[in-house]
Amino acid sequence: MGSGDLLRRVSEEITEAVFPSNIYCAVCGSLIDRSRPYALCDKCVTQMHWITGNTCGICGKALPNTYRGFDSKGRQVCYDCMSRSHYFTRGWSCMSYGLHEREMMMDIKYSGKGYLARKMGDVMFDRMEVLIEEARECGVRPFDVVIPVPVNRKRLVRRGYNQSEVMARQFIRRWSAAERAEGAGRPDCISTVPRLETKALVRQKETVMLRSLNPEERRLTLQDAFAVNPSLRHRIEGRNILLVDDIYTTGATADSCSRTLLEAGASEVYLLTLCSGGNRKLKGD
Ligand SMILES: [Zn+2]
Ligand SMILES: [Zn+2]
Repeated sequence: MGSGDLLRRVSEEITEAVFPSNIYCAVCGSLIDRSRPYALCDKCVTQMHWITGNTCGICGKALPNTYRGFDSKGRQVCYDCMSRSHYFTRGWSCMSYGLHEREMMMDIKYSGKGYLARKMGDVMFDRMEVLIEEARECGVRPFDVVIPVPVNRKRLVRRGYNQSEVMARQFIRRWSAAERAEGAGRPDCISTVPRLETKALVRQKETVMLRSLNPEERRLTLQDAFAVNPSLRHRIEGRNILLVDDIYTTGATADSCSRTLLEAGASEVYLLTLCSGGNRKLKGD
């Protein structure tokens, strides 16, 4: 175990001791028992906007069941994806960004509740486990690498963690555990768990808060915001990548990362986000 891993383990254990994860509902704060998944009480679970129905075939946002809008390939796509093409091939998302989701994200980002991000990594794994079959049917190759969207350094120092990285780490942990459980005792079991890559993609420009910007301004601000570390380019070249982020709105961040990765030789970039929603109602990106 490297010193970084050890440090992370210790800090996770301290976080767990100071803020035990499954005692209070992450959203409303009411007392719950430890067996609850995702650290949410029953009421909040029913109030979250889980994406289960119709979705955009490109970005993965929820669409009303009455929505009818198709692209030239016959895929059902949202208005945003209809008017703008993306660098990532396909995205999936777990919940629509409503009031509860916003409250939860604020807790994760500004109240030091890093353990909540870990719970959301569980949500992402559970969602992806269902989608992986669908993805395979659509011809998506297995993912080689999972890359969390990097946050800017100032925010990382203030927060102490990158919430997308915490989610991605838990996502991989769950995937490995599921595979171990399935392949237990079989020596021929070849791992399909993608590798977590947190060093190759870096944020090279400190961007201002995106929430006040319109989609075009976001796009301009984020141009060249990311770069691939030249000495780690080989970890990107030819790889099928799953990019992980907390919130998807206009797709400006996801596109900027995807373009950077493709220019560095990535084979394809897919996207998994925790929350997604319409443009102007949303804060963050
Ligand atoms: Zn609750
Ligand atoms: Zn879309």
